[in-house]
Amino acid sequence: MNNPTSGIVGFLGLGVMGREMARNLAQAGFTVRAFDIVPGAGDALRQFGVESVSDIPSATSDADIVISMLPDTPQVEDIVRGAGGLLAHPPRGKLFVDMSTIAPEATRKLSQELADIGITMLDAPVSGGPVGAKNGSLTIMVGGDAGGFAQATPFLRAMGTTLNHVGASGAGQTVKLCNQLICGINIQAICEALALARAWEIDLPQMREVLLGGSAASWMLDKLGPAMIEGDVSAGFRIDLMMKDLRLVLEAAQKHPVPLPATALVATQYQNAQAYGEGANGNQALFKVYDRITGQQTAVNK
Ligand code: NAD
Repeated sequence: MNNPTSGIVGFLGLGVMGREMARNLAQAGFTVRAFDIVPGAGDALRQFGVESVSDIPSATSDADIVISMLPDTPQVEDIVRGAGGLLAHPPRGKLFVDMSTIAPEATRKLSQELADIGITMLDAPVSGGPVGAKNGSLTIMVGGDAGGFAQATPFLRAMGTTLNHVGASGAGQTVKLCNQLICGINIQAICEALALARAWEIDLPQMREVLLGGSAASWMLDKLGPAMIEGDVSAGFRIDLMMKDLRLVLEAAQKHPVPLPATALVATQYQNAQAYGEGANGNQALFKVYDRITGQQTAVNK
């Protein structure tokens, strides 16, 4: 591969994030063969040059690199250990990069099993959401072999602008879980502030502007604040996925015992949203929990 944007990518998982990432890889010049268990998930990507195939080996067998963007640990285990998976059908390029957010410990086990047959696995979860995926501006946190990171870098550059090798196998996932811990607690803090300000009849859009100029400023307040204030629950990063991530954080904190009281409390707020059937809403819709608690509503919900 002399040309840095030539090579075959086997891409698995064409959901909210994966479809944008696969499109960016194709538009950067890579050959992309993509598979999703939902038939037709790749149809809209054909116009961008992504080839949609009907099983995992058709996407992965000839690939220089296999990239996955799947919901959770069991799905990644399935594409590695399942009948059509990478252990049974080793990809030609012997490089696998999992960009989903999954458990660090499971990642290490999969990486070892793959290493036993000569395949390098990197964990490379991302931050930046659907907008970052669409713009190719994701932050990518990579764990695993440094040589594998160097090999994967031209492909990762088509999807992200901030690439960091943060340690051995599982380290990328651990850093991502720390990212999610901070995001979850931050959203909860914004919910509490908005609920208190609303009760005191403060102008919420103005308060957001004021706070963005001071030490309470955050990505969440900037990017998700408007949707929270307007009661826009449309999904970006789903509540179900955030709850999955907080579960992974709490499991990791049991393995190496570290008390995480704020994370545990925030997880119960997300469970409240799920209990009301709101798991498919975007993360910002955690504020609806406060609509219930306070009996007040945001403008759109009234
Ligand atoms: P998603 O549910 O929209 O997409 C996952 C896709 O994987 C679906 O299309 C599903 O059909 C497919 N799939 C499931 N099992 C499969 C299998 N065995 N083989 C092939 N395809 C399979 O999820 P998403 O929002 O794209 O997120 C993907 C991952 O990225 C998750 O781990 C999530 O936590 C993480 N993430 C998401 C965001 C976000 O804002 N949405 C941001 C950062 C990280």
